[in-house]
Amino acid sequence: MSVHLLQHAWIEGRVRDAVLVEIEHGRFTRVTPDAADAADGADRVGGLTLPGFANTHSHAFHRALRGRTQSDRGTFWTWREQMYAVAGRLDPDSYYQLARAVYVEMLAAGYTAVGEFHYLHHQPDGTPYADPNAMGSALLAAAQDAGIRITLLDTLYLSSGFGAAPEGVQRRFDDGSAEAWQDRVAALRIPDGAGDRARIGVAAHSVRAVPAAALKAFTPSVDAGLPVHVHLSEQVKENEDCLAAYGLTPAGLLAEHGVLGPMTSAVHATHLTDEDIRLLGEARTFASFCPTTERDLGDGIGPSRRLEESGAVVTLGSDSHAVIDAFEEMRALELDERLATQARGHWSAAELLTAASVDGHRSLGFADAGEIAVGRRADLVTIDLASTRTAGTGADEHTAVFAAGAADVTRVVVDGRVVFDGDHRSVGRSLSEKIGRIWA
Ligand SMILES: [Zn+2]
Repeated sequence: MSVHLLQHAWIEGRVRDAVLVEIEHGRFTRVTPDAADAADGADRVGGLTLPGFANTHSHAFHRALRGRTQSDRGTFWTWREQMYAVAGRLDPDSYYQLARAVYVEMLAAGYTAVGEFHYLHHQPDGTPYADPNAMGSALLAAAQDAGIRITLLDTLYLSSGFGAAPEGVQRRFDDGSAEAWQDRVAALRIPDGAGDRARIGVAAHSVRAVPAAALKAFTPSVDAGLPVHVHLSEQVKENEDCLAAYGLTPAGLLAEHGVLGPMTSAVHATHLTDEDIRLLGEARTFASFCPTTERDLGDGIGPSRRLEESGAVVTLGSDSHAVIDAFEEMRALELDERLATQARGHWSAAELLTAASVDGHRSLGFADAGEIAVGRRADLVTIDLASTRTAGTGADEHTAVFAAGAADVTRVVVDGRVVFDGDHRSVGRSLSEKIGRIWA
């Protein structure tokens, strides 16, 4: 058992002082505020401690593109060509090395779990590796060795776009058929020792990449309540092409084929009709917003507040990793709404913390994480209250959401284990080395 006295901590929806937490077998067994007198022998943790955040949408290899795609103006589609160039260079070993460094960066930014939307399955010409799950297994091992929880969302990708055959690097993504994909996913194994810190979920890449006839492959997972993720309406062109192909919007198509449900996450959900919002809300679907990526790619601003009010549940992801910073994603949701509406106050700091922590974890199949509460998984994210960003900001939830950044994280605990001690420079050195090797 370990005992910690947290100077300030976010519990039961507000910041309390002198919070004594006891941790046993990776879970909180006691959480008591105003307990300074009972803290003899406790490990004293200064600053503001928050629950662990869940990064609900990640493509780990995109991290190698940060800062390298900005010289030409370009579009989403020209950015995608650059992304494909990196995808073409990776093998299971180099992907393990890169992903491990990226997952450590996530821990150092306050994330204690990641939903890895994984589609880089095969060799460059599309031939499966000797172990057809070598790439997915590399990601699971990378997460385990970094110390972050992972839900590996093994992704079905069959088409370059509404019936066109995969070409170039897309052959690495393609299993040939939904049945072959199902067989491969069924053979995927959680690594020894990962225990309940890893899960397997599934994803449909998008309605571009999964023909309507193949969507039934997701029915077993929807019915079983397993995480099912899908890119949805990130681009106007996807909507136009979907309407032309099927006479339905992407959300309409997914609803028609039973893919929407309370453990389904619609990723981006940017360009939606009123009816799309109604369908996602009615199904109680998660909507994984990725504001820093959507900003970087010029995708647009999705209707986050309207989705939440319709019954959908918003979560947050860092997607392309142009930025990895749980705090920046939280405030971006509110600040984007302010720009779009010329009004303030759409999302409260408490709601944003909930979206990033409890709701995000739930969408990845970790319903017992994301809260500093008895019985929950013992995740703790502590931020410095004396940095140039946080000093003088009040030390409450508004400090966390509207002032702090990833650089303020001083300590991260996942399932009771300290996995980050505040040394951001060593995280940077490792990323520099691993990404340098990919571009060499
Ligand atoms: Zn994505």
